[in-house]
Amino acid sequence: MAEAKLREKSWETAREDEILQLWKEDPYAFREESGRPVFIIDTPPPYPSGSWHVGAVAHYSLIDMIARAMRMRGFEVLFPFGLDRNGINIERTIEKKFNKRLHDFDREEFIRLCREEMERQSRTYIYLAKRIGFSADFDDHYYATDSPEYRRITQAVFIELFRKGLFYRGLRPNFYCPGCRTPIAEADIEHDEIPSKLLYIRFRGKEGKGLTVATTRPELLCACRAVIFHPDDERYKELEGTIVLVPPQGQEVETSPHPAARPDFGTGAAMICSYGDTMDIQLFRELELEPVAAIDEDGRMTEAAGNYAGMSVADARRAITKDLEREGLVEKIEDIDHKTPVCQRSGDPIEFVLTEDWYMKQLDILPRLRSVVDDMRFHPERHRQLLLDWMDSLTIDWPVGRRRYYHTEIPLWYCQGCGEVLLPEPGPYYRPWRDPAPFESCPKCGGRDFRGEEGVFDTWMDSSNSNLVACMYMKDMEFFRRHFPASIRPQGRDIVRNWLYYTLLKSYTLLGERPFDRVWITGMGLDASGRAMHDSLGNVIDPVPILEKYGADAFRYWAASETNVGEDFRISEDRIAGSGKFLTKLWNVARFISAFQEVEAPDLEPTERWILSELNQLIRECLSGYDDFNFFISANRIRDFLWNVFAPHYIEMVKPRAYDGDPGCTYTLHKVLKGLLCLLAPIIPFITDSIWREVYGGSIHRELLPEPREDWESRLRGLTPALLDFNSSVWKEKKRRGLALKEEISGVALPKELIPFAEDLSRMHSIRW
Ligand SMILES: [Zn+2]
Ligand SMILES: [Zn+2]
Repeated sequence: MAEAKLREKSWETAREDEILQLWKEDPYAFREESGRPVFIIDTPPPYPSGSWHVGAVAHYSLIDMIARAMRMRGFEVLFPFGLDRNGINIERTIEKKFNKRLHDFDREEFIRLCREEMERQSRTYIYLAKRIGFSADFDDHYYATDSPEYRRITQAVFIELFRKGLFYRGLRPNFYCPGCRTPIAEADIEHDEIPSKLLYIRFRGKEGKGLTVATTRPELLCACRAVIFHPDDERYKELEGTIVLVPPQGQEVETSPHPAARPDFGTGAAMICSYGDTMDIQLFRELELEPVAAIDEDGRMTEAAGNYAGMSVADARRAITKDLEREGLVEKIEDIDHKTPVCQRSGDPIEFVLTEDWYMKQLDILPRLRSVVDDMRFHPERHRQLLLDWMDSLTIDWPVGRRRYYHTEIPLWYCQGCGEVLLPEPGPYYRPWRDPAPFESCPKCGGRDFRGEEGVFDTWMDSSNSNLVACMYMKDMEFFRRHFPASIRPQGRDIVRNWLYYTLLKSYTLLGERPFDRVWITGMGLDASGRAMHDSLGNVIDPVPILEKYGADAFRYWAASETNVGEDFRISEDRIAGSGKFLTKLWNVARFISAFQEVEAPDLEPTERWILSELNQLIRECLSGYDDFNFFISANRIRDFLWNVFAPHYIEMVKPRAYDGDPGCTYTLHKVLKGLLCLLAPIIPFITDSIWREVYGGSIHRELLPEPREDWESRLRGLTPALLDFNSSVWKEKKRRGLALKEEISGVALPKELIPFAEDLSRMHSIRW
């Protein structure tokens, strides 16, 4: 017997660095000229902010498995890596660092500070991505959404869609965050249960009976334009069409039945004001009421609020509550938890403010978008509903303008003479707030004075183009036409309503097509007891020391074997450490096999035919997992095969023959090892490559996934349970009799169906029949 080709006794995490160096010399560049079918991944660009969430690192490990598996399925994989770097988060970091509000900075200076900070934060993300073995094309397909090359694409897409009439400017009720001082989209809003006071306020009737209205927003009484109750609510039937007086200003409003009123909330009678919630917005539109702007963009009460003008919303609420109580108009006050919309970024309660802004049409397009959703495959299928539910819940068009700095500029100019909106040609990157207008004169009035738009885009206007950029839009339009749509969009469940939805909206309106063929949606990474990770809970796990200690492969194997597609998963250091044991087992088995010569196909004994047909079955199951981008199946089935069948049974049965140099046996040992290594390569790329290079030469990542072989099929596979049972029973019997495993045993009966294995079994257990 020769010496093991795998020299090291065990797998050391430090070896991963050597493998990374080798990959640097032989990178995963995309080469269309290979002639293989092209598979394009619309990689999610992470937003660098502080340290990368360990759940996100797991998510990216899984995305890398998609790329590696598809390469080994024979595809030429275009796997970009991008960073999403525009937006309010980085701006808030700078605001906090200098303790100064954005609008108090010089704009140019502020942008420079954001960019420098972003550069710093980006480095950790790129380092971590490479460290986990992310096999993207970092050289030729890297992008940053704040680069001029990317921003010009965002602007060009806007210009194309603007020409198609998809944008309009309007004075609309808008979601507004007083903290971020900017309008935001429905997708940026979360709902928190906030303790609130529910006031029961007496409205007098103009003639005759009045009623009592319950509200958590008394400061909006000045903007009340109607009172509604449910059509089935007997309490108010007689009041239909009567006029009541709204305190404290006494404006007259009509009462009317409307199904939107909830008989079980408060008194069942509700005031409709501009604007307490999205229901108000809808009813103002439906009932054609004239809105009153009660709150301005600083979150302060306007002149319309009378005595309360200039107060903050919270102060006005306290003041008016006191005044109403003093006048005896408050019947009672209840403490309730009220579902309140808050800004996802800053946590401030959202106001509904009338603002003049740019909107992208979406409500009219939703019915057509639904058919595009039908045209895509979802992994898992049930998450299709997340997208459809979100589309059903939309109530306003998409406000795309933001009054911030570190974003892509809205590429528009306005004629100072006649107010005409001027749209530049798509192509360059425009900064209208500082660049000269690219026009000679106004086509409408001939004027030569222009004002550049100061506003910027919502960051989803950038990231919703990632699929176009992945397909080389505006970089290589020939390629784009050949290969759009992208093959797959992998993403987290938390950004279905924005990233997935907006990409769909943009691609459909721009190209009339689906944005990608498949959508693959993962769940969220939670802590070991199932809670979200938060600094405040002290349960945040930093991925950097975890990777240093256990290595990328242990982390990746854990991610594959414990996260099922689409479901939330729990992250615990113990479980990650535990997956290191599997790597040790794999190394030991590979090292044992590496001592034997690999030979060409000889005649095979039944034991060989049995394990090869088991390997066939394993290959089938793993391929079906990989083709569904489900790594949970492969990781767990392979472990089961290696740990519970191949190592303890097959290897132990054939060891004596292997040491005798039996060619059928050494042939089979290598076939199984090669199969296992290839099947595992997308999941644990470091250790498999290391073993492959030493034992077989070359990189495993240039190999294909194995296919089941017809000549390996055997009915002997049906004997697996009986075989495993027999071996266990012998081990148990030896233990019972106090015999060592190597010692001879007699009086064991071999089940009839296992006769084909009799010789191997008798040598394995030293049985005297
Ligand atoms: Zn905010
Ligand atoms: Zn003009």
